[in-house]
Amino acid sequence: MAIHSHIGVLAFPFGTHAAPLLTLVRRLVIDSSSQGITFSFFNTAKSNCAIFSGQEFDNIKAYDVWDGMHEGEAFTGSNILEAMQLFLAATPGNFEKVMKEAEVETGMKISCLLSDAFLWFTCDLAEERGIPWVSFWTAASCSLSAHMYTDQIWSLMRSTGAAKTEEKTLSFVPGMTSVRFSDLPEEILSDNLESPLTLMIYKMVQKLSKSTAVVVNSFEEIDPVITNDLKSKFQNFLNIGPSILSSPTLSNGDSGQECLLWLEKQRHASVIYISFGTVITPQPREMAGLAEALETGEFPFLWSLRDNAMKLLPDGFLDRTSKFGMIVSWAPQLKVLENPSVGAFITHCGWNSILESISFGVPMICRPFFGDQNLNSKMVEDVWKIGVRLEGGVFTKNGTIEALHSVMLNETGKAIRENINKLKHKAQNAVKFDGTSTKNFRALLELIKSPRGI
Ligand code: UDP
Repeated sequence: MAIHSHIGVLAFPFGTHAAPLLTLVRRLVIDSSSQGITFSFFNTAKSNCAIFSGQEFDNIKAYDVWDGMHEGEAFTGSNILEAMQLFLAATPGNFEKVMKEAEVETGMKISCLLSDAFLWFTCDLAEERGIPWVSFWTAASCSLSAHMYTDQIWSLMRSTGAAKTEEKTLSFVPGMTSVRFSDLPEEILSDNLESPLTLMIYKMVQKLSKSTAVVVNSFEEIDPVITNDLKSKFQNFLNIGPSILSSPTLSNGDSGQECLLWLEKQRHASVIYISFGTVITPQPREMAGLAEALETGEFPFLWSLRDNAMKLLPDGFLDRTSKFGMIVSWAPQLKVLENPSVGAFITHCGWNSILESISFGVPMICRPFFGDQNLNSKMVEDVWKIGVRLEGGVFTKNGTIEALHSVMLNETGKAIRENINKLKHKAQNAVKFDGTSTKNFRALLELIKSPRGI
């Protein structure tokens, strides 16, 4: 079939950013299979390797983008911010280089750019070429909304004094009136534009209204007021998720079979699943607090814990808990959360984890660490009422036991379970044939098919 549209996809290669973008692209390919669209996926070699894991997909070609490190140089720092800084310093030239290569190889000019919203310079690349820029925000609508109000937030902080605003609420942000300043991401609270992350997000805020569409992996019904507000700010604001309910998931092969078999043997809604995403490992003191709580309460648990963090567990913990607990270095999280034996999810509140928990109706215990996680945990506890935060914000033995009891055993847990099931049904409805997310996805497809605009 003749190819008539060539979409350039620009990924942000850190945290869980590139994988959801690839999931979106795969769904676009599947739904546009008879319409002659090809995608060039631009991402660093390391991230491409992790998310494609050797698989090839029709009409998607991966191109490796320079990660900002010079030949012979290897990134040795454990600080992800350092790697981000190097990568950002190499943009946009690194992307432009491979974009040209992709155009030569396909024999087609790129007709539309689809990028992670963080990569704000895609706006300029699209303008230079006279083509649309579709941006993909990989977190929740609430954090996008908070970023869009950065100028008002900074101006209030400057006039009132940062310390005095901490407990103030965002009374001027539709749908977020109960959120306090102290719940916001550091990138909003600090107006230090010397920080590459703060600067990148600030520039994104300046550019997003020029984007032909802002796409989010969420569903309108979770935050109707925020959705309407963002619709008024962008040319098109398209909630197309939860993608795990509507898109092909990337295969992990057979990895994790052992823990799924273990889950099959556990009682209904009895297991605590624990994961802190792809980046975070809690401090040793907190690891000890969490481990002691699990051991003392004899809560059945499945813990996704990287091998290099095993040494942070108390001596003998594995032996003493082997009758009721299991630790794996990577869990097939979707299958785990889908399993009826899982009763609660101890999470760092990354947006993908929250959306996955909602999609399978699993209540959450929140231990946010950085970025949007604190705001997400506020929404989980106080707005959606589908989980609890830890007393004092960190893992201690008693605080964790209390949170586990409240979610697993008492009336609070019952109400949370009802609320998350209601939200799960709304999510399921959004991805039905006539659901809001499905309609938005169709609009997105039209937009990239006829890239001169909808
Ligand atoms: N994940 C997984 N297995 C694990 C840990 C994490 O499959 O053992 C996946 C999880 O399903 C989610 C992603 O990794 O899709 C984590 O994304 P999130 O946005 O929650 O956190 P981040 O990694 O960006 O901090």
